[in-house]
Amino acid sequence: MIIGVDLGGTKILTAIADSEGKILASVKIDTEARLGPEKVIANIIRSISLAAKQAKIPMSRVSRIGIGVPGPVLGQAIIVSPPNLPGWKNINIKAILHKKLNKKIFIENDANAAAYGEFRFGAGKGFRNLVYMTVSTGIGGGIIIDGKIYTGALGTAGEIGHMIIDPKGPKCGCGNHGCLEALAAGPAIARMAGTKNALDAELAARNGNIKALKSIKMAARSIGIGIANLNNILNPDIFVIGGGVSNMGDLLLSPVKVTAKECSMEASGKSLIIVPAKLKNNAGVMGAIAVCMDARHGGDE
Ligand SMILES: [Zn+2]
Repeated sequence: MIIGVDLGGTKILTAIADSEGKILASVKIDTEARLGPEKVIANIIRSISLAAKQAKIPMSRVSRIGIGVPGPVLGQAIIVSPPNLPGWKNINIKAILHKKLNKKIFIENDANAAAYGEFRFGAGKGFRNLVYMTVSTGIGGGIIIDGKIYTGALGTAGEIGHMIIDPKGPKCGCGNHGCLEALAAGPAIARMAGTKNALDAELAARNGNIKALKSIKMAARSIGIGIANLNNILNPDIFVIGGGVSNMGDLLLSPVKVTAKECSMEASGKSLIIVPAKLKNNAGVMGAIAVCMDARHGGDE
């Protein structure tokens, strides 16, 4: 049996699955991030035993636990300094959980885990090279090359939301100007549309509000340019778009596709496929499970 954990800034989603990745039970509890790392780690452990209990599986039958975490991961073990988890700095969560649970532990960045989930079980099933983009309050991503998560030199690869699209654009949380995230994530759409959030912008656009419609088109154009850049460089088999904002469907995705095709080079544009994510909120937890299923070695401290 395998347990997958999707550690978020507000919720911990944990699922237990059999060796084929079939989910037997899942639980969702509060992260309580403001109470600091010790409490969060205790909550992770609690969610794990709750999931096992709900599936009526004794913990002795669980061999591997995979965890998607919201921030850069060093050496598949250390969480560097996640923006959504106050007080966390260079915590070796793999070593801590291995010691407390005595299971093989696999740590992955949450967007990478979601990319892997879509690759193994979702919209990217059957492809070898995939770029996953999640558009919500931020823009994150994961890159799968030849069936493997591409992590880069330090493990920080896949930050496609911080690709600079317009150097004269609005300031981004990372300190740069005109990152894709600053131009096209939920808050950017709301800012351009003059609405409370991206959902209100969507409703206004569907009711014919020109300003809201324009804002979504501008965000879509930035996403399309980002995809064209990635397509020219990586030429993946498929782009999978997830995250809350992508629930707008074709309102967002149709103009994304037009721009991505238009801005791709002719040769790389020929293979361009852009599809919505399939696993929705389960992508991260399914990815954490898939990472455990496919790992040949490792997991021990
Ligand atoms: Zn940025």
